[in-house]
Amino acid sequence: MPALERLYYADSFLQSFPAVVADVRELSRADGESVWQIALDRTAFYPTSGGQPFDTGLLRTVSPGGASLEIPIDSVEEDDSGQVWHFVRKPLPIGAKVEGHIDWQRRFDHMQQHTGQHLLSAAFLRELHAPTVSFHLGESVSTIDLAGGSVAPHSLERIERLCNEIIAEDRPISMRYASRAEAESMLAAGELRKLPERSGDIRLVEIEGIDRNACGGTHLRSTGQIGGLLLRATEKVSRGVRVTFVCGLRAVRAARADAAILSQLTSALSAAPADIPAAVERLRSDAKASLKDRQRLREELADYHAARLAVEVQIENRLRIVDRLWKDRDPEYCRLLASRLTAAAPSTVVLFCSESTEPASIVLARSLDFSFDCGRLLKEALSQLGLRGGGSADFAQGEVPLQQLPALRASLVAAVHKAATGEGR
Ligand SMILES: [Zn+2]
Repeated sequence: MPALERLYYADSFLQSFPAVVADVRELSRADGESVWQIALDRTAFYPTSGGQPFDTGLLRTVSPGGASLEIPIDSVEEDDSGQVWHFVRKPLPIGAKVEGHIDWQRRFDHMQQHTGQHLLSAAFLRELHAPTVSFHLGESVSTIDLAGGSVAPHSLERIERLCNEIIAEDRPISMRYASRAEAESMLAAGELRKLPERSGDIRLVEIEGIDRNACGGTHLRSTGQIGGLLLRATEKVSRGVRVTFVCGLRAVRAARADAAILSQLTSALSAAPADIPAAVERLRSDAKASLKDRQRLREELADYHAARLAVEVQIENRLRIVDRLWKDRDPEYCRLLASRLTAAAPSTVVLFCSESTEPASIVLARSLDFSFDCGRLLKEALSQLGLRGGGSADFAQGEVPLQQLPALRASLVAAVHKAATGEGR
């Protein structure tokens, strides 16, 4: 097969082109639908490579019967031998004449992010001596990973400003080929940012006065076409720092989305945008104080509640058994109340069940003047129902499906009477 002509190498602004089908193969059958790969003698479709995703678009052709056909291209991949495969849902015969049409909105967006990455990587290298170790162009944001430690916010602002100044200067972006030897001497002299491990001539892409880089991707003609660059976030990753950024219309969309969120916050907090951090800090501190207050009130309530229960339920046969089913008390309050009541009232056993959750929670606790083992009693009663739970000798807890709660309560009350009587007090 003759060598594939990659049209995007010479002209990254080529949106449509004539070509001939050079090879066709069936890839797989997913959900009963055939997927086909088509190789062309020449293509302007960019295959996923170097962090830049593939182009989409369509192939126009005329069937042997004379009908016009439009075949969408779902993805474009390059194999190890350097062949570029266009993924389609309909096969075309070898030798068929087609016209390729690139989804230009998608490609131009990719060129804005990718060219912006060249500029950003060059700026990080020049300003912070931080080389880029990888690049990823995502669906909504792009990232570069920088070698080295963290980047201070003021450095990020400086680099973002420098990039946008160079964008505003609309500097030309040019491309040329150099021999491997020439490229290597440029790399050694610090005149080339990166050189891939491959033989043959090297494609050099230069942004005037800031960056020269070996790259096989698609680039804009001048920095002004990047349209603007916005840094979004940084995070630590295993090999350095990940910087998230957006260029062109993505930057506008990101800023628009931020503005919408800010607008919601100004209205919800009745605060001007600049006052939002202080308003949020006030809310946090109010919430913390409220939580502390709530906990204090719950403890006070539990003390009063315990005192009332100790009066309501009398000691009979040297045992006060407080068996309560709460519908609207949370399990945490039940535990608090159980511990306050058994600490304050002697000869007392509490069996509290909270139905506010499914499964229901259960607490079995006793005052310290008894010696039987609540943990063992609860464990035995639960195991009769095929459930697990337990605890210490004076305080045990578990969970039980609501449906099994009545049976568990009955068996625990009986077990408590037996254990307390057995102590012969
Ligand atoms: Zn590039």
